[in-house]
Amino acid sequence: MEFTDQYWRLCSSCKKPIKYSSKYYECNVSTCTGRRTGYVFCSVPCWETHLPQARHRDAWAIENSSPSLVQYQQELKAESAVSKDATSGRRLIIKPATPAAPSLSASQNEILVVVSKMKQYVKDRADMNTAGEVADTLSDLIRRACDDAIDQARADGRKTIMTRDFKQD
Ligand SMILES: [Zn+2]
Ligand SMILES: [Zn+2]
Repeated sequence: MEFTDQYWRLCSSCKKPIKYSSKYYECNVSTCTGRRTGYVFCSVPCWETHLPQARHRDAWAIENSSPSLVQYQQELKAESAVSKDATSGRRLIIKPATPAAPSLSASQNEILVVVSKMKQYVKDRADMNTAGEVADTLSDLIRRACDDAIDQARADGRKTIMTRDFKQD
């Protein structure tokens, strides 16, 4: 994504510039709002244009405000500094920014948990709310656990992953 001090990003629908420190809309569905590649919209009607393609079951637009120019420059700086995942040592894949058409169906980004049930659990258990990105984080954990289990099953020459392939420690 090209950086300009003239505006923050372009509306993913009508391509009108969204200025710094101003109002914009994003989708409540977390797969639509990845930090750099997600959709941003200048208006609710523009948000509505992505719905037929995205086929959400339950979606609404969230009014948000864009960062200031200074904040955004700091964000960009921080992001370019992060190239490795410190905890796992795995390289983070930084996808090319394609604001007009992020892939919505890639299973790499799909939510693998029943978000409403997960939120309800947290609510019942501790009367706490759950931030939107948590579903992404949990989905990544599940993907990682499955990847490890797949390796384990493969090493055993099996075509089925089993409970014992998930390490508990
Ligand atoms: Zn627009
Ligand atoms: Zn959406």
